[in-house]
Amino acid sequence: MHIGNYLGALKTWTRLQHDYECIYCIVDLHAITVYQDPKELLQKIRDTAALFLASGIDPQVSSVIVQSSISAHAELAWMLTCVTPMGWLSRMTQFKAKAEKQETVGDGLFQYPVLMAADILLYQAAIVPVGDDQTQHVELTRDIAQRFNSLYGETFVVPETKLPAVGARIMGLDDPLKKMSKSEPGSGHAVALLDPPEAVRRKIMRATTDSNPAVDFDALGPGVQNLLNIFQAFSEWSDDQMRAHFSGMRYGELKKQVAEMVITHLEPLQARYRQIISEPGYLDGVLREAAARVRPIADSTVELVKRRMGLYVAD
Ligand code: AMP
Repeated sequence: MHIGNYLGALKTWTRLQHDYECIYCIVDLHAITVYQDPKELLQKIRDTAALFLASGIDPQVSSVIVQSSISAHAELAWMLTCVTPMGWLSRMTQFKAKAEKQETVGDGLFQYPVLMAADILLYQAAIVPVGDDQTQHVELTRDIAQRFNSLYGETFVVPETKLPAVGARIMGLDDPLKKMSKSEPGSGHAVALLDPPEAVRRKIMRATTDSNPAVDFDALGPGVQNLLNIFQAFSEWSDDQMRAHFSGMRYGELKKQVAEMVITHLEPLQARYRQIISEPGYLDGVLREAAARVRPIADSTVELVKRRMGLYVAD
């Protein structure tokens, strides 16, 4: 995971957990919509869980689950597939972008947003805190919920998207016109949450800017705008503070200050991550307990959906 994931999602998630009952899901079934090396995938699932906790998600307060450990996700996804027109799915921009990169496009990639709708609707979620790139998928989830409700009667809560005020879309450091993304190649593209300080410095110092020498808030190019966004999202400074501090600053100095701000926030996160993975059995315990806590919610939604659709439910 990279700082876009942190600023667009994880940071908001840690805040929301004190105001809502939160369920956060490691979507391994979504990951396999493109080929994954099995050993690496298992390691990534564990790393992601550890990074959720290291970012501040408190397993005593929120539930962190692995999608494939609750079979109701896949079950509900099938039922929702049957009420989702193909035309809705072919309009999804993420599908189009990801499909272009594949030699063969698996059906799972096409169905990806329906599985995401199942992840959300299974828990009757009211709010979905995501980065800007996921708003189209949450809109589709709302459409699927509404269509199901109108076909079979009121069943699902229709969820709302919640975007962070700053950091909803962090762009690639090498190309500020492209969203920072896990799947983008190139060592200068993204700052990973586990990058050591020297890698963070190197990537940010090499970030693409423009031909101006210094920050001009009246003519910000996308690269400089992105660096300022990253700084502001981590520091939580106001717009006025940002202007007062950075106006006229040379790009070299701006980059240094952005790099130090990122490192200051990543260091404690990385220390917590190392602590979490060093405790044998801790992570599995957290994931097992959370799955046991939320499984009854998921099972009761599937049972309700079965009854609504006229499927067989043993009494
Ligand atoms: P993904 O990397 O697609 O699994 O996304 C995980 C979460 O991070 C989702 O809530 C995304 O909206 C969010 N996210 C991913 N990339 C970015 C980005 N570049 N900027 C802000 N949020 C992002």
